[in-house]
Amino acid sequence: MAKQIGFLGLGNMGGAMAANLVKAGFAVRGYDPAPTARERAAGAGVEVVASPAEAASGAQVLCSSLPEADHAYEAYLGEKGALDAAPEGAVCFDFSTISVEGSLRLAEEAAGRGIRFLDTPVSGSVPHAKAGTLAIMAGGDKKALDAHRDVLAAIGKEVHHFGPNGSGLRMKLVTNHIFAIHIAAIAEGLTLGKKEGLDPARMVDFLKASAVPRILDYKAQPMIEKDYTPTFTVNLMLKDLRMIAALAEGAKVPIPLGTLSRQVYMGAAALGHGNRDQNAIVEYFERGAGLDAAKKHDKS
Ligand code: NAD
Repeated sequence: MAKQIGFLGLGNMGGAMAANLVKAGFAVRGYDPAPTARERAAGAGVEVVASPAEAASGAQVLCSSLPEADHAYEAYLGEKGALDAAPEGAVCFDFSTISVEGSLRLAEEAAGRGIRFLDTPVSGSVPHAKAGTLAIMAGGDKKALDAHRDVLAAIGKEVHHFGPNGSGLRMKLVTNHIFAIHIAAIAEGLTLGKKEGLDPARMVDFLKASAVPRILDYKAQPMIEKDYTPTFTVNLMLKDLRMIAALAEGAKVPIPLGTLSRQVYMGAAALGHGNRDQNAIVEYFERGAGLDAAKKHDKS
């Protein structure tokens, strides 16, 4: 018999996930207080019910995609909440981005009822939720995760387990930290180019073919291995950052992020990394964070 799934929060992300679970053959009972979300989910084959408790009743797996911790408390612990109604042994996958503290509290409440609760936030947006190609970061009981990989497979193609409860959400925050800085950098760079008369669409086309989308592939691994063998040094990038600052000043374009990154490169050079590969700027951050000074495997 198909696994019974309860789904709390049928909004932009949750609605698409629940629809994919239906398509994958699971019996999905969902709850959301918003009429539009309820109608859309019903149209996708979700059995829409009147409370979180009804969604949870008889479910082997409870999923949720809720805006913030307070909504999750309401859905799991409030009146007609899901945790009091779910059967012992049930597993919860919470796809929401809520506070680590909030998630730990829910995990504790669940454990007290013989239910395993995992934080399973996602990377990707509505198109990925619709396509079932989200990337899932999990924290919590790995056995519970492994027992229901079939459920997760309908939602995302990548499922990475990071450790105990809270570690999925910690990874989500790291991911969005890097993501937000990237978006801001793209916005800043495109603005500088536009003011300099470059065509936005052609810039984007070129950037896709440039080294920018491959930074993670060829820079991140040596960075974590502390291999600073020079391919493009901190000093060479400092020269470019100087020219970028001059260009922006001439064009009267504020580039706060460019200025900030130049300061970071200057800081790394001042620490003695000027002639090492530019991924050595991580030393500047690690020093600031009080992490142990790194052993370098510098082959230069
Ligand atoms: P949304 O506002 O579209 O959906 C949230 C749904 O939760 C709403 O339909 C709301 O009515 C419902 N809800 C509120 N209280 C509830 C309760 N007590 N019980 C049941 N349902 C309740 O938001 P979204 O964009 O789908 O985001 C959901 C979560 O996913 C958030 O934590 C968000 O940060 C995260 N997220 C969103 C995206 C994205 O691109 N939208 C990407 C990654 C992660």
